[in-house]
Amino acid sequence: MKKRQKWKRNLMVMTAMTGLGFSVFNPDFSTSASAAGQPDLPLPKAESFSIVQLEVPNQNAKDKLLELGIDLTHRASENNGVFEVDAVVTPTEIAMLKTFGIKVKDTLITEKQWNARTAERQTALQQESGLTASEDSLKVLRANHYTNQSETFLYIEAKSTAGASASTALTATWTENGVEKSATLSRKVDAGEYLYHYLEVPVSAIPASVKLESSLGGTASSAVTEWLGADKPGNPQTHYVKDFVDHYMDPTELYERAEKLAEEFPDLVDIIEMPNKTNGYRRLAQAQIGSTQATSVVVTSKAWGHEGGNDISVEFKDPKSNDSSLKINVEGKKVLVTLATDSSGLITSTAKQVVDAINADSSASALITANTYRGNAGTGTVSSAAATLTDGLKAPASISRDPFTVKAIRIGKHRDGSKPGVLGYAQEHAREWVTPLVTIETAERLLRNYAHDGETKRLVDNLDIFLVPSVNPDGAHYTFYDYNMQRKNMTNYCAPAQSDPGSRNSWGVDINRNHSVGSAFDGFIGASTTNCTSGTYAGPAETSEPEAKNLVWLADKNPNIKFAMNIHSYGGYFMWSPGAYDANRTTLPRPSAGEEAFYWAASDTILNEIQDYRGTVILPSRTGPVPDVLYSAAGNSADYLWYEKGIYAWDFEVGADLWNKETQQWQAVGFQPSFEEGHEEAMEFANGLIGMFKVAYNQSKDHQRPTSQAVPGSGKFTGPVDVTFKTSEPATIYYTLDGSRPTFESAKINLSGVREDAEALKIDKTTTLKWFAVDAAGNIEKNYNPISKEKNNYNSVTLTIK
Ligand SMILES: [Zn+2]
Repeated sequence: MKKRQKWKRNLMVMTAMTGLGFSVFNPDFSTSASAAGQPDLPLPKAESFSIVQLEVPNQNAKDKLLELGIDLTHRASENNGVFEVDAVVTPTEIAMLKTFGIKVKDTLITEKQWNARTAERQTALQQESGLTASEDSLKVLRANHYTNQSETFLYIEAKSTAGASASTALTATWTENGVEKSATLSRKVDAGEYLYHYLEVPVSAIPASVKLESSLGGTASSAVTEWLGADKPGNPQTHYVKDFVDHYMDPTELYERAEKLAEEFPDLVDIIEMPNKTNGYRRLAQAQIGSTQATSVVVTSKAWGHEGGNDISVEFKDPKSNDSSLKINVEGKKVLVTLATDSSGLITSTAKQVVDAINADSSASALITANTYRGNAGTGTVSSAAATLTDGLKAPASISRDPFTVKAIRIGKHRDGSKPGVLGYAQEHAREWVTPLVTIETAERLLRNYAHDGETKRLVDNLDIFLVPSVNPDGAHYTFYDYNMQRKNMTNYCAPAQSDPGSRNSWGVDINRNHSVGSAFDGFIGASTTNCTSGTYAGPAETSEPEAKNLVWLADKNPNIKFAMNIHSYGGYFMWSPGAYDANRTTLPRPSAGEEAFYWAASDTILNEIQDYRGTVILPSRTGPVPDVLYSAAGNSADYLWYEKGIYAWDFEVGADLWNKETQQWQAVGFQPSFEEGHEEAMEFANGLIGMFKVAYNQSKDHQRPTSQAVPGSGKFTGPVDVTFKTSEPATIYYTLDGSRPTFESAKINLSGVREDAEALKIDKTTTLKWFAVDAAGNIEKNYNPISKEKNNYNSVTLTIK
């Protein structure tokens, strides 16, 4: 009996650990697979993570970085062959990267700062729910005057944060010819849902402004502008409403908001439910029992945690008798493992023996599966212990654990496919909290300005607008409630050996690496097909994930979509295809010179809109095809849309660096800046997204055929000649040099090099050059028909070389 005292009989309850982001780099991972005879190792400690700026000295090190699947952010730059990129890493990873010559230049954001954002959001949410009880805040939606044949009216629409309560009353006050007047607003409720308060009243003189006061103390005021006045010359737009987001929203909130908009604006909005439900914000329940690698047993429930897995408990019991044998008993949801002992009563059961016994017992294996720790031989003797399994999920019960239906908000006066489609989609990467706000702010602006803003009305009347606020809702819920840094979805494709609770934050598929064009499965760089815990794990196959399938479905179902914006954060980038290159640094085919020119021209419109909000400049060094300004991203969704669907597809990286006057340096804003900054980013990139709608609108109205000219044209030359083309607008030139009729199959004028102008054709013998130009809207020069052979009204010049 005395001897037994040597064994520390601690009752261990090990539940989910945080940290350990990229356990594949953890040295413990490889050594733990050691066979019997090697010394037992302690369990790896959970590590904190941070965003650091890495200095990558050369191309080899850069390739290594991409190959290792380090969790890179989207902020990168290259100077004289030295690549600098922000990455989310643990101290173990930093040590490993050093061995490849990669250094940490700067620590930008720590885990502590990230956690502060979660706390900030909780405070905002609490304040908001508290508002309905004691006080409210008011927003004037519109304050207009209009005059008909016989009377002038004042019309006011306002919204109270406490408007859901019928007891909240709003009073408007204004002045007519020096006399103060006031009136109470009516409450607009539809199908039990509060929409807004409103008032229409005849006035003897037009008031300059109106003041609102609520019974709960909220106040607001607004200038009174003329209804339908914005389009009249000399009557500038004065009542464009914006600013509809006041805290970071999780996907449950986002989609509730979307549904409310559809209820409020039934004539302008449809909600599209996409057919591929996500796997759900749910996990199997687990426990890890044991204090070292060789003595640990990992048990995983068969049922999801919330469907019974969390009720399961496991106990390893010392029988306190000699020569006892290993036995399994199951009572209800409790698995009792009675451990084997030797002739002196010492426990002899090893982790491996316990694992095998549990898995062999039909009652126990109906509830759980057991494994040794990360493939360890499990030769260590286990101790008595007990644990309750848990899925470790911390979101409140109001966040559904069921598969999630991702939705698109479809906005337009004509939502029947007859108008050009435009698509904005956000939060493929869960931790990018600002990105969904861009889509919600955009939706609100389109709907709430529609009635009185001419430009908005033009866009909504002439376009078919699709907005997907959160492509990856499961991962997003996880980032709000469990692990700030979650990038991927929540689906675990790791083998049981890598599925202990310590690696739970590294599971999942990178949705922006799961698509089928230029994918890692086809040998493109920037994603992993083999490492299930890599930050850029591409999944088990192309388009394996429901989140990726939904985008494909949306594009298939709506062939009218011509433009798309894939919204990410951070770094302040504006990019387009190609988005990936292979091991030889050969990119996917580059757009033609004409398409590239169109991308740049559109950039000008979109980036100007962004700048209009608070002066943010998206730098020229961060504008262009993805591999020219960032890094290869195999299997990204924008490439899919461009190459498979012919959609002009851009990527936004919201969150441009801020200039720090004190340090005279650009400063990274991170994935989850303070809401004050996040709000500004949402506002300016909503400007940018609406800028893309303007590009789409202008293109839809472009019926002008391009014209083109070869320089030089026909003539006699004494030596080789470089021929270039001038076009009246961005247009693709299709040409032949052999005298044949030019078609869409003919060669195109491409760029002469990365970030260079269109190529010149070198003509060194007498040649007849035949060509035609096509603009981005599909207008063909001179109405030439490259398909039918009826007319040969293409361009032609002959260069005679002597
Ligand atoms: Zn991203």
